[in-house]
Amino acid sequence: NVLFWLSWFNLIPPGACKSLNSSVIYANNEVDLAEVDIYGFDYDYTLAQYSNALNTLIYNTARDFLVEHFKYPEEIKTYDYLPNFAVRGLHYDIQKGLLMKIDAFHYIQPGTVYRGLTPLPDEEVLDLYGGTFHVPLQQDSGFYGKGPKVKQFMDIFSIPEMTLMAVANDFFITNDIEYDPVHLFKDVSEAIGMVHIKGYMYKWIMQDLALPSDSQQAAVLKKVFFSGSRDKGMRHMVGENWRDFFDVVIVQADKPHFFTDCIKPFRRLDGNGDLRWEKITSLEKGQIYKQGNLFDFLRLTGWRGSKVLYFGDHLYSDLADLMLRHGWRTAAIVPELEHETKVVSAHRYAVNLTWLQALTGLMERLQIHRDAESRDVFVEWQKEREELRVMTKNLFNPQFGSIFRTLHNPTYFSRRLNRFSDIYMASLSCLLNYDLSYTFYPRRTPLQHEAPLWMDQLCTGCMKTPHLEDMANIR
Ligand SMILES: [Mg+2]
Repeated sequence: NVLFWLSWFNLIPPGACKSLNSSVIYANNEVDLAEVDIYGFDYDYTLAQYSNALNTLIYNTARDFLVEHFKYPEEIKTYDYLPNFAVRGLHYDIQKGLLMKIDAFHYIQPGTVYRGLTPLPDEEVLDLYGGTFHVPLQQDSGFYGKGPKVKQFMDIFSIPEMTLMAVANDFFITNDIEYDPVHLFKDVSEAIGMVHIKGYMYKWIMQDLALPSDSQQAAVLKKVFFSGSRDKGMRHMVGENWRDFFDVVIVQADKPHFFTDCIKPFRRLDGNGDLRWEKITSLEKGQIYKQGNLFDFLRLTGWRGSKVLYFGDHLYSDLADLMLRHGWRTAAIVPELEHETKVVSAHRYAVNLTWLQALTGLMERLQIHRDAESRDVFVEWQKEREELRVMTKNLFNPQFGSIFRTLHNPTYFSRRLNRFSDIYMASLSCLLNYDLSYTFYPRRTPLQHEAPLWMDQLCTGCMKTPHLEDMANIR
């Protein structure tokens, strides 16, 4: 018992959890703000954080569009929005109509596969995927998360889209109506797309139904006095003079094509928002430009490489190209950190996780003992470990768990976050907590071959391979 409690404190130092909070900026890579001359920002969900009410509006409008435009049965309208059903970064198997969480090694996390609103038993998942939880690379590896058979939902708009997808599947399944999941995928995607194309989102903003919820942005902009769409949203957040904060303003840039194609030229909008026809030879402060492309942008501004730090919420269309092709520094806005750091800081999570790690270590050592009694205990511990893992997952989201982790691995989302962002944070206002000469240093975390399993510490000095009796005592 003494050993266990000692190691408990070794595992999670007292007070460690208090240092986790949603106003912290986390570093994947070292970034010295003193070296940053240019701050660039995406607009939706980066500068503008919307309230959750917007998701309900998007969902309701797209759901009704399915009924009115695609003639889906009227009864689908009885399904209200489920705010905590889906999480960002999930994959959707278009042909099988399944929503699921996939880890960094392309394995489906058991227990997180949903057909409609119902979880699929693991055996059925194995049947559907040829006896494995692995989803082949060629099915899901489209660079922007759009594989031919499996799509990854990465932007925050996609939460109502995933929910509507699940709801529509659920309606057909529970009512025993035959349908093609591929058609359903296309119809729901189109219905969600119509919300954007028909400009509902911007109508809601104009009607004050969906104004950005965070007005600390003005403070951020004043602080960085940066270089960097939408008039009403910006006036609401920053004030009438919002354009003064930016050296360059581009609207409807059509990312990610803005970063990869050099076809669309910049055009200037006049004071009425109408397009001007003159050729753009410089990008002027106080003006608003439409479309354009990064190659012309770099030529016209000379803003290159690591002196630019760009903030965006979409790992692929905002950040990936800038980091991989152009060497800009990137900052990811991940609003989910607010909820997830709260869960991770809770006492219950610390207790679960510590015991989970300890139990895993005990199992690792016990497995070599083949006698009947040891086997029985092993099976019992295995069951307990499974229950603990599910309990820990449910603290984040009962259906899909954390967006960053499967039971023990990083998620597909998490690995891409590490790869495409230098720093990440819950919201832009986290920047207010740091001086503009601050350097973000990533924590040096041990690699697998550098770190002993936690339990090794527990048993150091007691024995190399503890006997069952000793393990029971430790418990
Ligand atoms: Mg965005």
